[in-house]
Amino acid sequence: MTDTPSNVAISVIDVEYEQPACPTRHAWARVPVEPTAVERAALKAKITNLLREKNAVMVSHYYVHPDLQDLAEATGGMVSDSLEMARFGRDHSAQTLVVSGVKFMGETSKILSPHKTVLMPDLDATCSLDLGCPIDEFSAFCDAHPDRTVVVYANTSAAVKARADWLVTSSCALDIVRALKDQGQKILWAPDKHLGGYIQRETGADMVFWEGACIVHDEFKAFELEGLMAQHPLAKVLVHPESPKDVIALAHAVGSTSAILKAAQTLDATEFIVATDNGMLHKLRTLNPGKTFIEAPTAGNSATCKSCAHCPWMAMNGLAGVAHVLEHGTNAIHVDPVIIDRARLPIDRMLAFTAALKNGQPVGGLIPNIGAA
Ligand code: SF4
Repeated sequence: MTDTPSNVAISVIDVEYEQPACPTRHAWARVPVEPTAVERAALKAKITNLLREKNAVMVSHYYVHPDLQDLAEATGGMVSDSLEMARFGRDHSAQTLVVSGVKFMGETSKILSPHKTVLMPDLDATCSLDLGCPIDEFSAFCDAHPDRTVVVYANTSAAVKARADWLVTSSCALDIVRALKDQGQKILWAPDKHLGGYIQRETGADMVFWEGACIVHDEFKAFELEGLMAQHPLAKVLVHPESPKDVIALAHAVGSTSAILKAAQTLDATEFIVATDNGMLHKLRTLNPGKTFIEAPTAGNSATCKSCAHCPWMAMNGLAGVAHVLEHGTNAIHVDPVIIDRARLPIDRMLAFTAALKNGQPVGGLIPNIGAA
């Protein structure tokens, strides 16, 4: 048994995955118990008041508990992907950001808003991609490939970002890698091997890969998905590119959380099979009443796993934790100012690139000649 921030005792759920760097049972052990309806209403009221009193705003990721998504929006915050969360926090007048998500999201918010206080319900909420890419080993990998431009995914520590030439998210990775390839640059990609492989297949870029994976998306299975598709022949399949190659190959739409939301609204279908963290289903269903969303199959939901398609670290976020950190100012994210300065560079490059792309401006001039042989 262990204690949550609200001191409620919960059972330890013993879950082991093959990846040695993913102690998920510790994460599941710290998932807060579901509050009762009365407790939930009281916590929401308390958080709403605290946000106002403390000049704070709440930003939540699509994969956290629906209560945290709804409360963020109801109190003037937002629900989004990691980069939009950080950008929203930077542009908001609030001096304190409460980030419901995982640690790299808090760090990215801190990098973009170094003078603001960034609080998280549980600082041990992490990510298998971040855990599986320690800075020392990653630096050695980069040193072994000095002729390559280092492109890292948002799901990395601040220190790994500081070692990179470019940061990308799943929504802009294709465009940025394609532009780098057009400039004749060779890529070192980290950490997600499935997303990297997808980008390589789509762009034909010369890439070497760090061997990382998301423990949630890695579990989606093509054979079982084909079976589900046969049962729902009219359903369109929406897949996040952190999923394995054979699952991506079955998709009607492949893309980031934002792209999946858009596909659900624009594709000509009323039934969808969704291969991404099942926290996403809340937003999909809220925005698309009348449409049906079905979880794509994983290796199997065993008695020891709450759901193989749900991130145990995202599940560590809860209303009680948000109330606690707001009330006491605990769990602040700290990033070394030197790291912040260096990590801004790849992030600013990405922001300038995506802004130019959005405005229909040329992007070639935004690509520095990094790593050229
Ligand atoms: Fe990391 Fe996967 Fe969890 Fe996202 S869902 S935080 S990529 S482990």
